[in-house]
Amino acid sequence: MDEMNEMKPARKAAGKPLRPGSRARFLLCSDLDRTLIPNGLQPESPQARPLLRRLVKQAAVCLVYVTGRNQVLVEEAIEQYQLPWPDAVIGDVGTRIWSTLEGKWTEWHQWNQLITRHWPEDAPARIAAEVNRMRSIERQPDDRQTRFKQSYTCGLPDLDEHCARLRGCLLDCGLKVNIIGSIDEVTDQGLIDILPAAATKQSAIDMVMSAWGFHHWDTICAGDSGNDLPFLTSALQAVLVANATDEVRQSAVAMAEQQGQGANLYLARGGFWGMNGNYAAGVLEGMAHYLPHIRNMLK
Ligand SMILES: [Mg+2]
Repeated sequence: MDEMNEMKPARKAAGKPLRPGSRARFLLCSDLDRTLIPNGLQPESPQARPLLRRLVKQAAVCLVYVTGRNQVLVEEAIEQYQLPWPDAVIGDVGTRIWSTLEGKWTEWHQWNQLITRHWPEDAPARIAAEVNRMRSIERQPDDRQTRFKQSYTCGLPDLDEHCARLRGCLLDCGLKVNIIGSIDEVTDQGLIDILPAAATKQSAIDMVMSAWGFHHWDTICAGDSGNDLPFLTSALQAVLVANATDEVRQSAVAMAEQQGQGANLYLARGGFWGMNGNYAAGVLEGMAHYLPHIRNMLK
């Protein structure tokens, strides 16, 4: 394979994940920003993404991106960072699932139906009315809003307080929601995503696993930040990349232990094939920890 071809995100053959009975296949569900995308402060090992692309080209590997990005931003990331083309994308913070076989995005409407429960048509308007009563919260641009995701920004020191207050207000007005607070490391702002209660990255991963016949032992998930902790500390085999902050690492270990899942959390530390464990190198290191046979697939 020449380097130019290797650099192109390859669009995989249709139907690839639907191979029940193949013992060798496995599912990788990975966050994008600062997990596969090297857009943090730490350096990336140069061979990490080429190795990941080589691995994902193999028929046994099914790849799902799990991200806060929408379709446009996922496509931009794939292009800009030469990421492998996935089989599916869980986007908009878990509120949408698409199959992406051969570059064609097909939305999973069964997921929309599932998360619509307890999320009435007027939920976005009711959320806006509650948020308008609070100071120092700004609505994000329209292209960041969807029927199932209402997104705001606030000052970082207010983030936890705003999330807690919104949870209470919205529950009081009869809306069951999932509120995700996160940090925009570029602007140093707080980000608040308000979603249907049933729409979590974890439950979306469960849906993909069940639809495509994967189990806990042939699924690996990877992430870097506080938002990823629910699925990183679940019963899934999980990898926390080495570029995660110490705070996230400590929380991940504590949460996993608390839930009896300590053995299912791998902390990438570097050293795998001379790489530093950050970003894609950490994901590969974790995959090799759970599935030693992938070392042969990388050669
Ligand atoms: Mg991330």
